[in-house]
Amino acid sequence: QDEQFKKVISHAKEYGYIFQSSEIYDGLSAIYDYGQNGAELKKNIREYWWKAMVQMHDNIVGIDAAIFMHPTTWKASGHVDAFNDPLIDNKDSKKRYRADVLVEDYVAKIEAKIDKEVAKAAKRFGDAFDKEQFVATNPRVVKYQEECSAILKRLGQSLEKEDLADVKALIEELGIADPDTGSKNWTDVKQFNLMFGTKLGASAESATDLYLRPETAQGIFVNFLNVQKTGRMKIPFGIAQTGKAFRNEIIARQFIFRMREFEQMEMQFFIKPGTQQEWYDYWKKTRLKWHLSLGLGTDNYRFHDHEKLAHYADAAADIEFKFPFGFKELEGIHSRTDFDLNQHEQFSGKKLQYFDPEESKSYVPYVLETSIGLDRMFLAVFSNSLMEEDLGDGKTRTVLKLPAVLAPTKAAILPLIKRDGLPELSQKIMNELKWDFNVTYDEKDAVGRRYRRQDAAGTPYCITVDHQSLEDNTVTIRHRDSMEQERVAIDDLRSLILKEVDV
Ligand code: ATP
Repeated sequence: QDEQFKKVISHAKEYGYIFQSSEIYDGLSAIYDYGQNGAELKKNIREYWWKAMVQMHDNIVGIDAAIFMHPTTWKASGHVDAFNDPLIDNKDSKKRYRADVLVEDYVAKIEAKIDKEVAKAAKRFGDAFDKEQFVATNPRVVKYQEECSAILKRLGQSLEKEDLADVKALIEELGIADPDTGSKNWTDVKQFNLMFGTKLGASAESATDLYLRPETAQGIFVNFLNVQKTGRMKIPFGIAQTGKAFRNEIIARQFIFRMREFEQMEMQFFIKPGTQQEWYDYWKKTRLKWHLSLGLGTDNYRFHDHEKLAHYADAAADIEFKFPFGFKELEGIHSRTDFDLNQHEQFSGKKLQYFDPEESKSYVPYVLETSIGLDRMFLAVFSNSLMEEDLGDGKTRTVLKLPAVLAPTKAAILPLIKRDGLPELSQKIMNELKWDFNVTYDEKDAVGRRYRRQDAAGTPYCITVDHQSLEDNTVTIRHRDSMEQERVAIDDLRSLILKEVDV
């Protein structure tokens, strides 16, 4: 697992997807830059989300609120008082960890044992293997599962009660050691606020303390009436937004899973009080469908319904994804009641109500929220797509099987050789295709090596121009995943590729 994760990180760098931020100065921890391919993949994921949420729902509109917000926003939202992580230090290594993450990683290790048992049994029973039945009845697996849920339940309860002493007790009882040094010498658990502070204004005396937003949602809540009135929106309706968020996370070595500067894609859906269960079910279903549409594998997703709920929420679930280090939260779906709008009403003194023409009365709407990390989605797509394939005869290839709709470059144009007019024809094809999608040109090395390079970069199509092309205006198109090649007319290239890469 660790090996696979390391490969993901080095491949992301080698192919221009992700670089350590300010690398020449040795970088900043948990902060990353997206390179020439990463920026495209990230943009494509964002657009894929935006199309599904905004374009395909005629009652959802998108906004782009500022990162800086009035400081009272964060009092109203509860972030000043309660946006904390429980931290624990190791006395020997002096390293700091999130106490809840230490426990969750411990649980992930037990889950990995379950996976192993399942894989072993699947091998033994072959076609007759019934995974569901095995997981429900195998005594070892059942014991592991019970252990996992008991630990998570206790963690949830002690965090909810703010019983930090019990979180420490749990860590000690489980014998959790510092992942780096193996030491079990822990300090008490303390709460730590995650917001980054900064100042607005030129002189020290007149400066106002501000925070960098730790989530994009509040920009939607404070604009709720602006959008509702100017867009003449009728409940139920949604407001969507993508943008940067900042959290002073204490965590190392999870690559872009947990960053200090990251991007969220959030949608708040405003509904009539009393209809929240129906919309909660709708959005759980709809969001899972969105994920499955990318074809990363049904088995890689699962819902985690929260037992422990924030005081304002009446239901919450995560969509978890199987990352190289186990199942972890990818997206949250929360039924938030009227908590946020009520808080902003109180703190601003402005009414944030909706006049319902059907009911002829005003009320504060309830909210259903879907919230996904763009970078986390990037990691899900990227890590799932990277594979080493055995081609027989001791040969292997590294291939990045990104969904074609998300791939940074859709096609590479490769002249078989560098003369006889083949580069010129290749350029001509490129100039025609680039109006519709990203294409790249490569004439260096033998064509086989160029195929391998494009495989590893994630390009779904290679178009090879040869001498026959000059005679009959056809080219070879090679499919990344199957490596199959077909002869097609140059005139058909555009529609053939668009069919696969258009959202
Ligand atoms: P976690 O428990 O993993 O810290 P969270 O429950 O605090 O996440 P939310 O506040 O619900 O996360 O944020 C919604 C989404 O934003 C998450 O599902 C995740 O995809 C993303 N996200 C949150 N924090 C980070 C981060 N530090 N880096 C990258 N993505 C993040």
